[in-house]
Amino acid sequence: MALVVQKYGGTSVADINKLENVARRVLKSKEAGNDIIVVLSAMAGETDRLIQLAHKVADEPDGREYDALISTGEQLTVTLLSIILNRMGFRAKSLLGYQVKIVTDRSYTKARIFHIDTKKICKELKKGTIVVVAGFQGVDKDGNITTLGRGGSDTSAVALAAALKADVCDIYTDVDGIYTADPNICRKARRLSRISYDEMLEMARAGAKVLQPRSIELAKKYEVPVYVRSSFTNEGGTLVTKEDMEMEREVVCGVTYDRDQAKITVVRVPDRPGIAARLFTPLAHHNIMVDMIIQNASLEGYTDLTFTVSRKEIKKAHELVEQVAREIGADRVEIDADVSKISIIGVGMISHSGVAAKMFTALAGEGVNILMISTSEIKLSCVIQEKYTELAVSALHDAFDLDKR
Ligand code: ADP
Ligand code: ASP
Ligand code: MG
Repeated sequence: MALVVQKYGGTSVADINKLENVARRVLKSKEAGNDIIVVLSAMAGETDRLIQLAHKVADEPDGREYDALISTGEQLTVTLLSIILNRMGFRAKSLLGYQVKIVTDRSYTKARIFHIDTKKICKELKKGTIVVVAGFQGVDKDGNITTLGRGGSDTSAVALAAALKADVCDIYTDVDGIYTADPNICRKARRLSRISYDEMLEMARAGAKVLQPRSIELAKKYEVPVYVRSSFTNEGGTLVTKEDMEMEREVVCGVTYDRDQAKITVVRVPDRPGIAARLFTPLAHHNIMVDMIIQNASLEGYTDLTFTVSRKEIKKAHELVEQVAREIGADRVEIDADVSKISIIGVGMISHSGVAAKMFTALAGEGVNILMISTSEIKLSCVIQEKYTELAVSALHDAFDLDKR
């Protein structure tokens, strides 16, 4: 008998038939003698619909009301699943974030979990109840509902698994594991049977949306074994776990892409101390994350500064940067939202040379122009024109022989 957390994503709970399928899976594990906590997302598309509704009534909706609204999709699925499980003759109880007491800070839309009160869940598990928890949501210390960022149900599930010291956290989704590249755009992508926390974290941060990055940070910190599997088949699966001696230190284990990118260039910025601080401070004050930054060499006392932000934040970022650009006497601000970021990831990169050259050669071979480059110990990223995304992913997948073992 084990304590199991099972998380089902949006496509796995997209309609009543899918929820019935989830109920059958949950019961199979329950009947095998396990204690089960189910964590659900909203039905596929529902959170997007709620976000659109909020923006129909206001350009910048109040954070508190916005989070209370966009968290409602999960209330629908957890209650429906509990009703189905009850109908099938089993004790099941839905719990929303504030009912469990998943306590977070108050950064609406990107709240971080401080603490999870496990008392209520443990009491229910002792009674044999299947506990069905709404993913993606928490509550601050004053009782305001918060949400954990898009894809946040993964983080809810891993955080619950860590707090309850669960034996495993199963993430059920629409693919049967983690692949060397997004299997929906790369025909030759190969499923990995295991991947280390570090590599998965970099892949997620670089755009592989199969797991929310926060969830892997937590899994690594609390050593929660995370198993990614399909809610529609019983085959496959990928274990995300500690790196061990058996694991091959692949030079490159995966290729990822991120279309949520936009590039801002401030042209002819006076090259003197304090200018970068002036440009980036207002962005920080508005909680806008800056990803890559490039500053060209100074020419006659002027330089160009280019950086990337999330496409969703380009409007606000543009406004803020325009203002500073005027104040500091820069020539103009240019925006390009038709870009994407392509990355290769692998712990083996640390000890191999020539990886960057191979990446650039592969992109050049397809006529893909590189607009920006950034490197870290186990990741190499390039910003390119968005229209070349699929082509670039496949070219890199081939160049690093990722379809072969
Ligand atoms: P859920 O709704 O279950 O949370 P998501 O849509 O958030 O599912 O994540 C699953 C999707 O992640 C897959 O459909 C796939 O397109 C995408 N994905 C991106 N990169 C990868 C990868 N390397 N391996 C597996 N899936 C990936
Ligand atoms: N429903 C939320 C979203 O669409 C959370 C999740 O699915 O994990 O982002
Ligand atoms: Mg997801």
